[in-house]
Amino acid sequence: MRLTALSALLTAALAATAATASLPAWAEAPKVVVSIKPIHSLVASVMHGVGEPTLLVRGGASPHSYTMKPSDAKALSAADLVVWVGPELEGFLEKPLQANAPKATRLTLMDLKSLTLLQAREGGAWEPHDHGHEHHDHDHKDHAHEDHEELNSHIWLDPANARAIVTATADALAAKDPADAEAYRTNADRTLQALDALDAELKTTLAPLKDKPFVVFHDAYQYFEARYDLSAVGSITVSPDRRPSAKRLSAIRAKIAGLNAACVFSEPQFEPTLVRTVVEGTKAKTGVLDPEGADLPEGEALYPTLMRNLAASLRGCLGA
Ligand SMILES: [Zn+2]
Repeated sequence: MRLTALSALLTAALAATAATASLPAWAEAPKVVVSIKPIHSLVASVMHGVGEPTLLVRGGASPHSYTMKPSDAKALSAADLVVWVGPELEGFLEKPLQANAPKATRLTLMDLKSLTLLQAREGGAWEPHDHGHEHHDHDHKDHAHEDHEELNSHIWLDPANARAIVTATADALAAKDPADAEAYRTNADRTLQALDALDAELKTTLAPLKDKPFVVFHDAYQYFEARYDLSAVGSITVSPDRRPSAKRLSAIRAKIAGLNAACVFSEPQFEPTLVRTVVEGTKAKTGVLDPEGADLPEGEALYPTLMRNLAASLRGCLGA
């Protein structure tokens, strides 16, 4: 190493030491709580080398049917920043946020202007998506939130939205923790590049599936379908925590037969019996899609793995 480079390094190291001494907050990363696995993965990537976010909906749990644990309430009370999609998806978090984390900064992703939002589907085999949230509640105080009632909340399944989430997270973290702002920006840039590469890869993988109709367990994939030009034609349930009616099941069966849908996909958290009932007597095959990473270990690698697994399951069942 040349002497000038070494001396520059030493100067930088000394400056960093001085900064540590004058800024005690530098020693501890902000306490960040994230609702669900795919978002947690993106936030973990932005916090790489600085700290680790805490995840609420862990393991194979689903945000649709989640119940808060005492440890979750404790994590919320200690949080500096809470990142969640919004009440449309994590209804379980709406009251605890008020009760346990009144002072924490909230990053409500559905409120981001940089996000592409899609209307929940209606008509045909698609019925309005309902995550158990109260509709037509005129006493509701938050009107901005009412505007979201008809939106699909599975925003992370489009890498362009993941980009917006990463950028907004880096901004929120830099505001909370200016001493580490540089690290958050560098991590965000690296993550954005990885997302671009992932997007290009998925476009290639999924291009041959353009005109192959399939049925999903619940309407979680709209952003993925729109991004990659896929042809989902219906969902078995309106909301994954609710049993579909016999009428709905027969409508879906008719749709599978009529459109010659090649595949019906279940999800790891929910009983596959329904899927078997639906495909009985049709030529459709069955597969599994995991939109929330229920089967994956939490962490930075989860998001790209989740997206690649969706593509691989679709290819595996629908053929190329
Ligand atoms: Zn859902």
